[in-house]
Amino acid sequence: MDIADLAQRIVGGERRALARAITLIESTRPDHREQTRALLEALRGTGRQALRIGLSGTPGVGKSTFIESFGMMLTGQGLRVAVLAVDPSSARSGGSILGDKTRMERLSRERNAFIRPSPSQSALGGVARRTREAVALCEAADFDVVLIETVGVGQSETMVAEMADLFILLLAPAGGDELQGVKRGIMEMADIILVNKADGDLKPAAERTRAEYAGALRLLRRRPQDPKAFPKAMCVSALAEDGLQTAWEEMRILDAWRRENGHFDIRRAEQARFWFGEEVRRGLLARLDEDPQMRARMRALGEEVARGGMTVAVASQAMLAELGAGG
Ligand code: GDP
Repeated sequence: MDIADLAQRIVGGERRALARAITLIESTRPDHREQTRALLEALRGTGRQALRIGLSGTPGVGKSTFIESFGMMLTGQGLRVAVLAVDPSSARSGGSILGDKTRMERLSRERNAFIRPSPSQSALGGVARRTREAVALCEAADFDVVLIETVGVGQSETMVAEMADLFILLLAPAGGDELQGVKRGIMEMADIILVNKADGDLKPAAERTRAEYAGALRLLRRRPQDPKAFPKAMCVSALAEDGLQTAWEEMRILDAWRRENGHFDIRRAEQARFWFGEEVRRGLLARLDEDPQMRARMRALGEEVARGGMTVAVASQAMLAELGAGG
């Protein structure tokens, strides 16, 4: 495969080239990984930066309806929108989020939109890495907005927040008056909470839920770099396409503020450092699991420890020394 040519066609906005490159990224074959690295390196200098929006919410909250309405609104304003997903459960269930053809039917037909389901790999680390690399390709392909969808499985929200400029949490109106068991850590990641389905009979409940979350957000540690009004909670209806423009304006206000204050670049630099660390750690772990020599050594030392011939301290240090990692 001619990587320089592929890179050029991606930069030129050829969707087929983009789709092909993402398939390359998703492959675990060593020669494909090599080509992926060359491709990402070739695209590094484009200097194009999309607004990366992470979007999380439990199944049924209205993520795909929201992405369709929100995406259609953005393409209607002349913006190019890419939609990616991080769903580590897709490998198990077989049907990935975004994988279902009936989802986002209008948006998928839109010339200025590009939709890609979650890679189907069982380990979150693998799914996240590949999605992050796909984000880089979408930026090189000159998309203005990259939406990264996730369901709240394991650490997937953290992973998405680490590759997004803005993190949006989508919630449904609560029946009772207690918060919907949203974990504090996830609340802390959210820049904007959108209470969806604020329409018809659900509207009063949506407004109550919004007020509760607005209160909860005020109790969280404020981020000194952001305007006082953020993080904030708002009502939308993805179905009635209500409140979407206002939500978009709020996202742009926060994004513009962070760019002006240098925090956009600082955050991206921190994220690059985070992913570098992740990959080195993953690589070390992969060697332990995949390298036959290392596996044999692990087994042998494990047996020694099990039969009391060695202490855990000495055996683990010996193993780490073999990995060149000291101890
Ligand atoms: P997802 O699993 O988070 O992607 O949720 P879906 O987008 O598939 O929506 C789940 C259900 O909620 C569907 O029946 C949608 O029609 C409905 N839904 C989504 N958004 C809204 C909304 O804004 N208002 C109302 N009333 N229903 C909605």
